[in-house]
Amino acid sequence: MTFSQLQLRCIVCHEPFDFGRETAVVLRHIAYGFDFVHSRHESTALDWIFVDPQYDRPEFTHDERRVRVLAVAPAANWAAVMPARPEQIATGNPFTLQPLGLWALVEYCDGSQHLEGLVRESEWEAEPGGAEFLERNGGPRDVVGYSQMEEHLDYAGIACWQAAIYARNRGERFPLCRNVSLPELGSAALPLD
Ligand SMILES: [Zn+2]
Repeated sequence: MTFSQLQLRCIVCHEPFDFGRETAVVLRHIAYGFDFVHSRHESTALDWIFVDPQYDRPEFTHDERRVRVLAVAPAANWAAVMPARPEQIATGNPFTLQPLGLWALVEYCDGSQHLEGLVRESEWEAEPGGAEFLERNGGPRDVVGYSQMEEHLDYAGIACWQAAIYARNRGERFPLCRNVSLPELGSAALPLD
């Protein structure tokens, strides 16, 4: 499983977003994750039907939490801290690191904004709906925090990630660990190369 730097493109016109001037509306694909669209092309995407015996319904809908991506930044050497599989947890290895494809500053339905890591598996690069936000619903299989790949993990981070994994496995709510300082991603300087 390999990941590479993502470039967000509009699902309708296939042009990359110019985040200094425009934002990317978040769409949820009926079967495969997320995609993004210019607001001027949003109604076109929402009209598409996913023709499949299992679905045969609109291919894209709005996400119940995320409205739009306001800005993006490269995420080289950043990883999502993901809960390990139960058998790995049993051997004392509670999490794994999954490389991010991109940082996305997301605006939510309640008007709040925060930075989320976005991934896309390379096999999906040419396909619609291949992008995934790993935060999902804060469940036992969802990201518990973010970390630099090539730095030593800090103990405060590890303690929080473990607490999140064990609590969520017991069905309790536990927020994303935000102890690591994430890249500053305001509307001003975007470190895009
Ligand atoms: Zn477009």
